[in-house]
Amino acid sequence: MEISVDRERCLGAGMCALTAPEVFDQDTESGRVLLLNAVPSPTQAPAARKAAYICPSGAITVTGPRPAADELSVGAGGANSGPAGRSGG
Ligand code: SF4
Repeated sequence: MEISVDRERCLGAGMCALTAPEVFDQDTESGRVLLLNAVPSPTQAPAARKAAYICPSGAITVTGPRPAADELSVGAGGANSGPAGRSGG
């Protein structure tokens, strides 16, 4: 999987950094998202996918193959697991 972020859409809510701190952080000045790791490891992927799902602004896009069944066990529900992520807005 691969992650991209649209910092212009980011509201600075910080849900991503709380959910997947190894993948996302926030700019200390603007509060907007900082992408720490665009290609999360298999252990980071479930939290990164969940962060994309709960982001209130749809600023996080997930691309790549659908997750394995064990990746979904984090409770994200997989609703944002399609190859196009949340890009539809
Ligand atoms: S959860 Fe979304 S809106 Fe909030 S900081 Fe992360 S990318 Fe920005």
